[in-house]
Amino acid sequence: MGSGDAPMASSLKEFHARSIADREGFWAEQARLIDWEHPFGQVLDYSRPPFARWFVGGRTNLCHNAVDRHLAARRDAPALIHVSSETGTERVYTFGELHREVVRMAAAMRALGVRRGERVLIYMPMIPEAAFAMLACARIGAIHSVVFGGFASHSLASRIDDAAPVLVVSADAGSRAGKVIPYKPLLDAAIELSRNKPAKVLMVDRGLATFERTAGRDHDYAELRARHLDEEVPVEWLESNEVSYTLYTSGTTGTPKGVQRDVGGYAVALAASMKHIFCGNPGETYFSTSDIGWVVGHSYIVYGPLIAGMATIMYEGTPLRPDPGILWQLVEKHRVTVMFSAPTAIRVLKKQDPSWLTRHDLSSLRTLFLAGEPLDEPTARWIGDALGKPIVDNYWQTETGWPILTVAHGIEKTPTRLGSPGMPMYGYDLRLLHEKTGDEVGVDEKGVVAIVPPLPPGCMQTVWGDDERFVKTYFTSVPGKLVYSTFDWGIRDRDGYYFILGRTDDVINVAGHRLGTREIEESLSSHSAVAECAVVGVADALKGQVAIGFVVLKDPALAATAEAAQALEGELMATVDRQLGAVARPSRVHFVSLLPKTRSGKVLRRSIQAICEARDPGDLTTIEDPSALEQVRHALGGGR
Ligand code: AMP
Repeated sequence: MGSGDAPMASSLKEFHARSIADREGFWAEQARLIDWEHPFGQVLDYSRPPFARWFVGGRTNLCHNAVDRHLAARRDAPALIHVSSETGTERVYTFGELHREVVRMAAAMRALGVRRGERVLIYMPMIPEAAFAMLACARIGAIHSVVFGGFASHSLASRIDDAAPVLVVSADAGSRAGKVIPYKPLLDAAIELSRNKPAKVLMVDRGLATFERTAGRDHDYAELRARHLDEEVPVEWLESNEVSYTLYTSGTTGTPKGVQRDVGGYAVALAASMKHIFCGNPGETYFSTSDIGWVVGHSYIVYGPLIAGMATIMYEGTPLRPDPGILWQLVEKHRVTVMFSAPTAIRVLKKQDPSWLTRHDLSSLRTLFLAGEPLDEPTARWIGDALGKPIVDNYWQTETGWPILTVAHGIEKTPTRLGSPGMPMYGYDLRLLHEKTGDEVGVDEKGVVAIVPPLPPGCMQTVWGDDERFVKTYFTSVPGKLVYSTFDWGIRDRDGYYFILGRTDDVINVAGHRLGTREIEESLSSHSAVAECAVVGVADALKGQVAIGFVVLKDPALAATAEAAQALEGELMATVDRQLGAVARPSRVHFVSLLPKTRSGKVLRRSIQAICEARDPGDLTTIEDPSALEQVRHALGGGR
């Protein structure tokens, strides 16, 4: 950082320092960003660590803050822009229309007997009714639990069992890359499997797939909506610490846990992040390419942008159809100012003709935010150069609900640093701790990314129905200290920028040297031929574990012949040798045309590892494309 940047850097640091030194004063100020029906009496109740209760006694409502409170100023302004490149449809709902539809959905839920505090499970594709259902739950004080539409019966059943919903809202089908995916048979099978069968199912029929109806249980949304067209459903004012939703964490981190969130703290955290981090203004358009089944979809498709008075784009489709310019076409058409995507989507685009990025007028776009997985330097540089816009990485988890590490350009224009998601955000008392001693590590030393509780507003309150699991899972891994573990390795440079080195549970131990698979991946990715890669640790009789790499090339022709592949493999190994040392060198590098990933873009390293070790690859219900695993098998079989 140049010396000219120093005063600016201290301002974000000061903002952060104040959020920790004077938590209550800081968050009481942020709480003014939302409407309260009744003021809170206490900012923070931390009498039962590590459980934090924010804005105690305050009454508010997420739906009111996202929808109703904007009616006066922007009733006719766009609120929800739904685009499906799958069905070729587009529909813009103004705040007034969104309000009407949410109230109709709320009336339908009421008619089906849903009451405050009861759970509604939402298993839906990216259609407007999914957002209506979430907001309707918030309106009537029901707890929603959105389950990603890509999950199959078994995963869905386990979530139904855990949430015990009185109602499931679903649809006939989703569509992905032109292929209709019927939901109802999966839902029926899941209910059949589950112990806590919901009394009612509300079906949105988009006319994509015919489905069976169970008499007495299944209800048609169009019919119910028509019956409640003009009904009024007032907002249910909730105490700040009542539960707004539960969301099950993705399967990459063990068995699913119901991450439980409150009402007031979440609303305040989102409003603050929209202002300080995403810098979105009322009347502008926000575009997140995520899915409502993930935390990004909750925080930054539905609630965050709407709370900020922005229009939000809800997109059903892939980044490549009808052509690889679709995302940018939407930016141009809807004058998107703030965009949020994932590195994996950018790597997909990286393999396309780069001219797709320059065919549309992107003058409205200020910043592209990327999150969910490590953003490697080459990808960050490529997209930044191609768009000519700032790229802001942000690091967080389902558990936290909003960014832990990033830059907050609403506070100061801290320069970003390639490969680093940034600095600790206000509210997070972040530490890098030695995994054994629990002591803080020094500059440039690797430690576990941990947060000293209380966790700030917006973070999970507990694991749904299991306080003990919350404490055991997250607060007991650092010896002798009650700190929240992210289970990620991190490192901090001299200027205070953090770097995420991978999961603490993805470490490889090669001949006694502990290595993060992420570090080796970073090294492989730095080779100009590599589009993306995954590295796993595989059991080895001699060394304990060895690293094996799977690489997707930008140009598959580079490894078209056995000789070429061998030469390139050697080059890649030499690259790692050079950058990290021989100890980190993968024992093999295989070439594949795609990596096994979840639908949310996370590489299924455990499954790859299992296949490498001739074990069962485990739960694959979230896999994007099962043929990727076949490629791994084939590569192993052919390469030895
Ligand atoms: P999930 O809760 O499924 O979103 O996964 C959270 C995990 O994804 C984190 O604990 C990290 O391991 C990883 N992750 C998310 N965002 C980033 C990022 N910007 N950089 C590096 N890793 C990330």
